[in-house]
Amino acid sequence: MKLKEINARTQRPQRVRGKDAKVFLFLFFVVLGVACNQFETAETPTPAEPAPQITEVPESDSTVEETAVSTDPIRQLTILYTNDEHGWMEGMEAGEGAANLINRWREQEGYTPDGPFLILSGGDMWTGPAISTWFEGQSMAEVMNEMGYSAAAVGNHEFDFGLDALSARSEESTFPFLSANIRYQENGETPTDLGIEPYTIVEANGIQVGIIGLTTTSTPQTTNPVNVTDFEFIDYEAALREVVPQVKAEGAELILVPGHICYGELVDLANAIGDLGVHMLGGGHCNELFAEEANGIVILEGGFHYTSYATVTFEFDTTADSVVSADYADNFNTGSTADPQVDEVVMKWRDEADVELEHVIGYTEAGIPRRSPEMEQLITASWLAGYPADVAVTNLGGIRADIPAGEITLGDVIGVMPFNNVLVELTLTGEQLMILIEQNGLAMSGAYRDGVFWYLTATDERIERDEIYQVLVNDFMYAGGDDFTFLATFDPDAYNTAIDWRQPVIDWIMAQGSTPDNPIDAAVLDLLPE
Ligand SMILES: [Zn+2]
Repeated sequence: MKLKEINARTQRPQRVRGKDAKVFLFLFFVVLGVACNQFETAETPTPAEPAPQITEVPESDSTVEETAVSTDPIRQLTILYTNDEHGWMEGMEAGEGAANLINRWREQEGYTPDGPFLILSGGDMWTGPAISTWFEGQSMAEVMNEMGYSAAAVGNHEFDFGLDALSARSEESTFPFLSANIRYQENGETPTDLGIEPYTIVEANGIQVGIIGLTTTSTPQTTNPVNVTDFEFIDYEAALREVVPQVKAEGAELILVPGHICYGELVDLANAIGDLGVHMLGGGHCNELFAEEANGIVILEGGFHYTSYATVTFEFDTTADSVVSADYADNFNTGSTADPQVDEVVMKWRDEADVELEHVIGYTEAGIPRRSPEMEQLITASWLAGYPADVAVTNLGGIRADIPAGEITLGDVIGVMPFNNVLVELTLTGEQLMILIEQNGLAMSGAYRDGVFWYLTATDERIERDEIYQVLVNDFMYAGGDDFTFLATFDPDAYNTAIDWRQPVIDWIMAQGSTPDNPIDAAVLDLLPE
């Protein structure tokens, strides 16, 4: 996977397609000096999709009586699929938001709320810009309700705000959160108390549709591990072998699996479960855009951040219980005006977010200067406090203002870190790590130098050239900004956490509970290396 720098203002997102199980990562868009960094998917040309014929083994165990809305046994159903929405209800660019997407579906896909359509999400719905993150995804849940989603897979980032928030979002959402492979370690049960169900069955255009969710087994490494200690994330195939028969026994005819899993894993899964009678496997997590067929199963993923989506239209024979044809495609969210109803919800939360900027989150007696060890540690040490990694590094050029003495507001933190960056997790050898941290112009936490050797702050262990370390940087650096082009060479498959780079800083400041009587200054000094 190669890194490319692209002018974000003029380029459209590119299609990603992979050839093997572990490819694809994101490319990053960079706009130097502008409060906007975006990441992107890698590219190959988009071929015109043929309309494939899917041969289905008729299923014998359907017990459902058809509640026919027409006498024609051949019914059509279109799935509109998004994933990794990450709170981008306003769009990364004007005209690419949730309100535009709904109108795009109306205009391009013939979507009507009462028509033969199901809207599904592959998960990671909320973690992202302030308009979503500051409300722990409540705003995004409301937007997705208004859009009319039928179900969503649980993504790793659904755990980011803790289990109470996950449970609250589930309660507020008018669509179910699905995962068949998240289980309590102690009893192997699905955490239904959090509002997570393994599957749901809905009727759409006279077809009984079973929808089963899956969640990436990498979740413990890609959210705050504290939030998932009670769970195990069991093998995808094992989960489907258990749940698909249940769904069929309850009458499902067409079986769809929105999963928060990447392309390579989807292909492997499709090849392993050809006997199960699953008709669609949806992806998420790796921000890929594709729609194709593997082992007779439609596999698709809708990109990221509402910049794009994928569709599949099934012709389903309800008499024979079999798919007659499946037409699939991927598309970009461009060119449509905003739907007024969805836009109204987005605007309401924009106003709420603007009000939040005045929110006081702490108090500093002396202030924290832009160019000071205190500011460098406040940022990088708080990243390590909020995300499991060994070392955190950020470029000094991204730190733009002082925190003035007195009350600290959310707006102050935005002033210090005005760019819309996110955290990227690199897996580096000790040798690569040392090349990185010996660069100029960096703030860094998690490692220190003693004589000629480097040591990890947490353990005082020497950094060994051949050992492996987890390192946080911002996506601007990973995209090659400030000449950090070597980062993408060191780790072409870095993980984009989608976590706003300011959020751990905000969380750390709030956790100190500082007031004029108990200012934050001493706690900040404690962050400095001894
Ligand atoms: Zn994810």
